[in-house]
Amino acid sequence: MARITRLLDAGQTLSFEFSAPRDEAGAERLKQTLDRLSKHRPQFMSVTYGAGGTTRGPTRDWVRTIRDHFQVEAMPHLTCVAHTRDEIAAIIEDYQEDGVDNILALRGDLPQGVESPSQAFDTAAELTDFIRSRADWDIGVAAHPEGHPMAASVEADLSHQARKLAQADFAITQFGYRAEHYDQFVNQLDARGIDTPVIPGIMPPTNVAGIERMSAINTTEFPVEIRERLEAASSAAERREIGVEVAVRLGRELLDFGAPGLHIYTMNFARAASEVATALGWPAD
Ligand code: FAD
Repeated sequence: MARITRLLDAGQTLSFEFSAPRDEAGAERLKQTLDRLSKHRPQFMSVTYGAGGTTRGPTRDWVRTIRDHFQVEAMPHLTCVAHTRDEIAAIIEDYQEDGVDNILALRGDLPQGVESPSQAFDTAAELTDFIRSRADWDIGVAAHPEGHPMAASVEADLSHQARKLAQADFAITQFGYRAEHYDQFVNQLDARGIDTPVIPGIMPPTNVAGIERMSAINTTEFPVEIRERLEAASSAAERREIGVEVAVRLGRELLDFGAPGLHIYTMNFARAASEVATALGWPAD
């Protein structure tokens, strides 16, 4: 299939993110979502990984399904928390067998208070090094333009992210709602001599409680003016319209800032992601 660096070289990319569902109904819905979103001809789709290995098998299965059934480049996420070196090595071998070309290397988060004595790698940077020593793949990492919640300081976080991005082929950001945060982050990296492509992540804000919860975990700003508009909406349809409008405006600003592409967090739902893609110039076939 295709390396993401080559896809980025060819122009601004569109990508969608999914997570492996937990039950049959979720699997059925994801198939329908993939069917609809693959018609936008995204450059790639990615599948999350349950930190600690809970979705190890399903991530691999869905990566294969996306590639073989929907003919879209598919990238697995891989987290290193709670995994031994041998377990990570075995996962890499599985993906080599499958002909994977790209991977998103992450640390992941263990539930609070849980420790994993057998964990071999403490950071995404260490995981990236290990993968690099074993597989000839394009390796992406997570970027946190508004800082990582567990960072010791803004400066230490930025230095860590700069070092990690220097080792990677590309990065995908945490979702955010202000294009300025992305622009400032990329400029700060640039000032440190890092030119790794950073693809901004966008999550159409359609669900106030969900966005509020995830923003609090990630310490990303959920602008009050967006929350108030969503809270004043009287139906799910109206909230979706607002969410799509916000995401489209944000996507345009990010593309205007020169973002190398857009990565849409779908939460396994098709409609809002499809409307955003269409409005931003990636219509369905
Ligand atoms: P790291 O880069 O290893 O570290 C995170 C932060 O810790 C750094 O930003 C820094 O502040 C601090 N830090 C680490 N090492 C150092 C150091 N040496 N010196 C100073 N500071 C340091 N989670 C999942 O469980 N499954 C997924 O599939 C998944 N997919 C994701 C996809 C994207 C695009 C993003 C943005 C996040 C995803 N996450 C996923 C969440 C991610 O696992 C968490 O954000 C996690 O807390 C950090 O992962 P990381 O890879 O950024 O970690």
